[in-house]
Amino acid sequence: MTVLPFPDYAFQKRAVRELSEKCRVSQIGRSLCGRGIFALQFGRAENCPLIAAGFHGMEYLTVLTVLRFAAALSPRDNVCLVPCVNPDGTEIALHGARAACRYAPFVTKTGQQRRWQANARGVDINHNFNADWQNVKRREREAGIVCPSPTRFGGFSPESEPETRALTSLCRERRFSRVLALHSQGREIYWDFGEHTPRECKALADKMGEAGGYAVSAPEPLATGGGFKDWFIQTFHRCGFTVEMGLGKNPLPLTDFEGEYPTVRRILNTFISGGS
Ligand SMILES: [Zn+2]
Repeated sequence: MTVLPFPDYAFQKRAVRELSEKCRVSQIGRSLCGRGIFALQFGRAENCPLIAAGFHGMEYLTVLTVLRFAAALSPRDNVCLVPCVNPDGTEIALHGARAACRYAPFVTKTGQQRRWQANARGVDINHNFNADWQNVKRREREAGIVCPSPTRFGGFSPESEPETRALTSLCRERRFSRVLALHSQGREIYWDFGEHTPRECKALADKMGEAGGYAVSAPEPLATGGGFKDWFIQTFHRCGFTVEMGLGKNPLPLTDFEGEYPTVRRILNTFISGGS
């Protein structure tokens, strides 16, 4: 299968349907606008690693990356993939406000529809996980973000969004051995979330960094808390990573994909193998 580089929802559904021939596909939830959120299971479901992408609308290169990566896996591999956690946000960034169903007037009013990161009603999924959430809200207020917006508004309560809950439910059910959240951009890997971070996570982050030539970093203040990797580390006391693929300004152009993909593939393979 050749994955063509325009990762909107129609393409995602086609790709997932083709992949269902060699992995188990399940719909783990629906977005606010009713789009499916899919998980692709290769190998055994219990205690395997998870890779999730498409948290942020403009970061659709991450969706393409996971779909391309899936196309090269075999049923003997052991990993769960969620190619797009936020299909509405991705669709808005690619097709504009008309992709936002009943939220289209709100999206239009922001004037930022092609620079969209949040879900359809303006909640940033990667600020909506229940990890040090009060701190997330405090930092938002300090940054002047007090209501639904194209980016960085964490919602009115943690796990308020169906996209967030799709992923937390999946994690509670499957007990993943470790998780990787794919974002763009910066060519950096984050691995730390306070006292619950297992000691071995830094070593694996270093190996992933070496595999792709990516920097291994400590989080920036506004990026601390509320994120998927933060929640996973805090909840399960297992390793969670954020990988920021590519370099430039979001949205990275689709033409960056072929150049960046081989690097990210090495990082993902290192993550799946656990660095062994
Ligand atoms: Zn992101």
